[in-house]
Amino acid sequence: MFSYHGHQLPVFFVEGYIKAFVQATGNPNADAFYRAAARRTFTSGEERYQILSSLETYFERPIFSYHLSERRPLDYALLALLFEGMVEANERHPKRDELVRRLSWHTGLLWWLGRAPVSTHLDEGRSLWKLTTSHVESYLDIWKYGSPGITVTTVKSSQELAKMGIIAFFETLQQQADIYCDIHQAEPELVVHFPECPFCLNRSPDCRVFWGITMGLIEWLHGTHHFNAVPTTLQMNEANSTSHTLVLEPLNILSR
Ligand SMILES: [Zn+2]
Repeated sequence: MFSYHGHQLPVFFVEGYIKAFVQATGNPNADAFYRAAARRTFTSGEERYQILSSLETYFERPIFSYHLSERRPLDYALLALLFEGMVEANERHPKRDELVRRLSWHTGLLWWLGRAPVSTHLDEGRSLWKLTTSHVESYLDIWKYGSPGITVTTVKSSQELAKMGIIAFFETLQQQADIYCDIHQAEPELVVHFPECPFCLNRSPDCRVFWGITMGLIEWLHGTHHFNAVPTTLQMNEANSTSHTLVLEPLNILSR
């Protein structure tokens, strides 16, 4: 029997996630993944049809002719069917676990980035970057030279700003998308834990969606693609991180 999780992801976020998922898997028919997973989950065809139609609206397929306005926030349990189906579809792959890690990592990164400006497809403004970074930027601006009250003794270092930026991003994500996280500062590390992953319900040890998002975020914070980029000050400790607990640590520039 299918049971809802009870927590939903808002429409803008589902749109961005599913677009990135389709792009990362390279499969425009990615909806076949969750249909296959659903066949095992639902006993009756009727029930399957009713529950899945809300997911279908996110796939741009003329045969369904859904209108965008029919899109509704999605329950985590429905969203997780997509992930489950992707894992099942690759069941026989000799390096399945590694493949799942790579695809989910890529989904997170592409979701962060959105479409490239020269992409021939319209980016409807659903990238995480566009949805959240103005909040992060205005928060960080308060602590920089040129802001009222900031002097040489009170200005934050770029490493401190990077940490604050990461915290501000995940807090914004919590407020806007209701994706809950625990942030724990264990100097010099920053530990971010997601007790309720909307994408796999914390069932997959190979889920790397949050890794991909965080890597994109770290690069953006340091302006990696700018000619005047700040040297990277934070990195993810991959050995100590797990699927839903990320350990971020200062990068010792001298040791590079
Ligand atoms: Zn997950």
